[in-house]
Amino acid sequence: MKNVFILGATGSIGEQTIEACRHLKYNIVGITANSSYKKLYEQYLLCKPKFVIINTEEGYTFLKDKIPGKVYFGLDGLHHTLEIAKADIVVNAIVGSAGILPTVYAIKNSKRVALANKETLVSAGKLIMSLAKENNTEIIPVDSEHSAIFQSLDGQPIKKIHLTASGGPFRGYTAKQLEKVTLKDALSHPNWEMGKKITIDSATLMNKGLEVIEARWLFDVPATKIEVVVHPESIIHSIVEYEDHSYIAQIGAHDMRIPITYALTYPMRIANPFDNINFVELGKLTFFEPDKKTFPCLQLAYDALQAGNTMPLVLNAANEVAVSLFIQGKISFTNIWVLIEKIMNKHDNIKIENINELLELDNLIREKTLIGGNTCQ
Ligand code: NAD
Ligand code: MG
Repeated sequence: MKNVFILGATGSIGEQTIEACRHLKYNIVGITANSSYKKLYEQYLLCKPKFVIINTEEGYTFLKDKIPGKVYFGLDGLHHTLEIAKADIVVNAIVGSAGILPTVYAIKNSKRVALANKETLVSAGKLIMSLAKENNTEIIPVDSEHSAIFQSLDGQPIKKIHLTASGGPFRGYTAKQLEKVTLKDALSHPNWEMGKKITIDSATLMNKGLEVIEARWLFDVPATKIEVVVHPESIIHSIVEYEDHSYIAQIGAHDMRIPITYALTYPMRIANPFDNINFVELGKLTFFEPDKKTFPCLQLAYDALQAGNTMPLVLNAANEVAVSLFIQGKISFTNIWVLIEKIMNKHDNIKIENINELLELDNLIREKTLIGGNTCQ
């Protein structure tokens, strides 16, 4: 039995983490959400955690009334409860760079961080990895590709990492076709049901770009050794290539509850009722080169990683705002990368090694991207 604290419990990964914990009979000690307080209250009734944290005044007032003594507010509430909760594992399932500070708190207060929030590593990878080392905290990947790589490591030097990508709903589209796609089209992912932001990132291939950067920090491998291969069936979750030309991969159904469970139980493998694979019925597995020309976000992510310093943070912050503008109907799908590239080109790529200054820059880039969004159609 382990004590698990779930950040972003009301989202897609958060809900699946609750399900995984219930199967494992792990104790959920804390749950958090940004604004969806009614769902958080339902989760409270189901799991009876000691600590419930919400970010909005309205949610705080509602919850405090229902469950007095257990409700805390915002980042300060999270900071305080993580200190007293003594969790074995903190699962960070928050979306976006709002997950950076919670990851820092989690590293300082838990034995293990199961990290789904890839934006933390994209924006502050160097800092986060050294903080984890200093605090003797393990960071276990939840992202299916990184979980696959983690499970395929055998202690030998890595020759290459092959990150698999589904290709998203627009695989095979031409640049012209992409100009006309709608929000509804972009939200129809062929293999995974996820939160809105990551679903749009999967459609632009930015998700894979963010994952390249995530892999760089998690496994300390340079960008030149990380390749992306499109594998529409999403059965092979990623592959590690070794010097002797052996390729070790992890295979599984496309069900996030499997890598979530592994991050919770590692180094053990514990039985679960989730999907399995019937190889005979599986049919053909296919692989293609990603089309970085038609989907420039993947190339932008490689460029940001190559540029180093604060460029990956800029890529991430600009992407978060651009995606939200697209979701609100304020810019077109193809303008997502036009806007990101504009913001990256204007950035004076300074080096920052302090978390507060990184967060200040994150805010500044968001403001600039919002203003830049007004000039896009
Ligand atoms: P989601 O939108 O479904 O859920 C996000 C959660 O974060 C919610 O609980 C929400 O209340 C909380 N949140 C949102 N803004 C916040 C803020 N400002 N402060 C604090 N909490 C906030 O997202 P998701 O699809 O579950 O994705 C979560 C993370 O996991 C993302 O980083 C995503 O890239 C990663 N991930 C998701 C999947 C998936 O299948 N959904 C797979 C791999 C990785
Ligand atoms: Mg992934």
